[in-house]
Amino acid sequence: MFDNLSEKLDKALHVLKGHGQITEINVAETLKEVRRALLDADVNFKIAKEFTNTVKEKALGQDVLTTLQPGQLMVKLVKDELTQLMGGDVEGINLSGTPSVVLMSGLQGSGKTTFSGKLANYLKTKKTKKPLLVACDVYRPAAVDQLHVVGEQIGVEVFSDRGNTDPVAISKAGIAYAKANGHNVVIIDTAGRLAVDEEMMNEIANIHKAIQPQETLFVVDAMTGQDAVNTAKAFNDILNFDGVILTKLDGDTRGGAAISIKSVVNKPIKFIGTGEKMDAIDVFYPSRMAERILG
Ligand code: GDP
Repeated sequence: MFDNLSEKLDKALHVLKGHGQITEINVAETLKEVRRALLDADVNFKIAKEFTNTVKEKALGQDVLTTLQPGQLMVKLVKDELTQLMGGDVEGINLSGTPSVVLMSGLQGSGKTTFSGKLANYLKTKKTKKPLLVACDVYRPAAVDQLHVVGEQIGVEVFSDRGNTDPVAISKAGIAYAKANGHNVVIIDTAGRLAVDEEMMNEIANIHKAIQPQETLFVVDAMTGQDAVNTAKAFNDILNFDGVILTKLDGDTRGGAAISIKSVVNKPIKFIGTGEKMDAIDVFYPSRMAERILG
C-alpha cells in the first residue's frame, strides 16, 4: 500500500533526519521533494502546493531551524499535516435509527456489494447488531445473486424482490421487512454504472430522498486515483453523503485518492477495503495512515 509514496517521502525527509543543523535551503529543497512525491502519488497540484505551503509556514512559525532536532520536527510537521489532510478526527457511522438505514452509492465495480457484506459482518461481530442486506440492483440479476452469496457466507439475511423493477419500492419494502423481523441495521446495496450518468444519479437521489438514510456512504476504488476524487465530487453534489469508503487499498501503490478525497468533498473516509475477503475491512484512522506512509 502506497509503497512509492512512502519511499519518496522517506527519501525527501532523509536529508533532514539526523541533521543537527539545517538551513533554510535544506527545508526548501525538502519541501520541493515532498511536493514532487505527492504529485507522483496522483495528488492534485493545488492540494500538493497548499500542503507544502502549510508545512513551510508552520516550520517558520516554530523556528524550526533553531530547535534541537530540526529534522525530527519537520518529519512531525509533515506527518501532522498528512493526518489533517486525510481527515483529522475519526468519525464512526451513525446507527441511531430504529432500524438504522445505511445507503451504499458508487460506480459499478467500485466494491459496493463486497463492502455491504463486509460492513454487515463487521457490525454483526464487533457491535453485536442484527443487520439486513437489501439488494436494489434491478438491472443485473447477477448482482442480486452476488449479494445472496455474500449474505450466506457471513450468515446475514438478504432481502430481494427479483420481479420488482423499482429500487425505491424495494428499499422501502426492505426497511419494513427489517422492522417486522427485528433487524436493527439495514444496508442497502444499489446499482452502479461504469461512469457517472444522469439516470444513475437520478435513481440514487430518488432512493435517498424516499428512505432518508441515517448514513449514506460513497464507495470508491482507490486505484482509480484522481478519477476517484472526481467521482466523489459528482456523487457528493447530488447526495451530500456522510462518508467515503475507499476500497482496494491493498492494490493501491500511489495513494492519491486517500490523500486528496477528504479535502475535495470535505467528508471523512470512514472505512477502507483491503482485500476481497469479508474480513478485509478496517476503520480508517488518518493518523495511523500518515504513520504508515511516513514510516
Ligand atoms: P460493485 O459493482 O460496486 O458492487 O462491486 P463488487 O463488490 O462486485 O466488487 C468488484 C470487484 O472488486 C470484485 O471482484 C471484488 O471482489 C473486488 N473488491 C472489492 N473490494 C475489494 C478490496 O478491498 N480489495 C480487492 N483487492 N478487491 C476488492
